[in-house]
Amino acid sequence: MKDLLLRGLVRTPDLRVIQVEATDLSRMARMLHGLAPTAASVFSEALAAGLLLGALQKEETRVNLSLEVDGPLSGLLVDADTAGNIRGRVRRPDVHFPGDPSVGPRAALGGSGTLSVLRDLGNGEFYRGSVEFTPGTLTDNLRRYFASSEQVATALDVRVHPTERDGLGAVAGIVVQKMPEGSLEALEEVRRRIEAGAFRDALARGATGEELARAVVGDDLAILARQEVSYVCNCSRERAVNAVTALGPDGIRTVLAEDRQVVIDCEFCKKRYVIGEAELTAIARRLEGGVPGGARA
Ligand SMILES: [Zn+2]
Repeated sequence: MKDLLLRGLVRTPDLRVIQVEATDLSRMARMLHGLAPTAASVFSEALAAGLLLGALQKEETRVNLSLEVDGPLSGLLVDADTAGNIRGRVRRPDVHFPGDPSVGPRAALGGSGTLSVLRDLGNGEFYRGSVEFTPGTLTDNLRRYFASSEQVATALDVRVHPTERDGLGAVAGIVVQKMPEGSLEALEEVRRRIEAGAFRDALARGATGEELARAVVGDDLAILARQEVSYVCNCSRERAVNAVTALGPDGIRTVLAEDRQVVIDCEFCKKRYVIGEAELTAIARRLEGGVPGGARA
């Protein structure tokens, strides 16, 4: 089954709704990164949140959500685009707190740090907003980010519902924003429902798709679009070669003398790129000769 992102609208009182289910891609990320249960739970929350942020981007661009914290997890980053692709990394994949799964993630994150959102605005410009991390979940802190850094009134929830069989039983998130003509009071009502556990409880009783969103915004929801979302890395051999080229001829000669190859492991998808001696020599020659890339001597 594919994870889905829904875009919808509640016409009166003009609320924009984006919801994502990210269970399968979270399990995939857990396997890829070899995450212990608590690390997997926090990372899944970040992946769902990242997909919501990606869907809020206006242009076809990327957005990064990152955490630097003093807890054992230390930090994480997710990188999403508007097309529903996400990837990320966790600094300490082995973090686990046995016992109550609602307590572990908070303990893993700790009590201070920074939550940052880096938005690519297209045209080569970036916007970075951040808030101080305070004790709580990633989502608690992301709500504070929206309140302080974004201009639009926003209600948000992201939940990881563990089952007996799987710590990532269901992973989902929802963001509701007031449209320019919308009512702030209606948004406050959505916030109250979220605070009262509407989204969490719907997820726990197995609700999926529109049903989940309706638990928060009511039955007037009109779905405008559905989009598949997945864990995808855009790394490539070409990028690995570019990274090596950036070492310059002297750097490459040093590598050649010491290891005779460069091994690059992608931190997002764990793919390994090996650039061997012959190719390294060719790159160094090309750089030394000042011949533009791809041209023959
Ligand atoms: Zn990769």
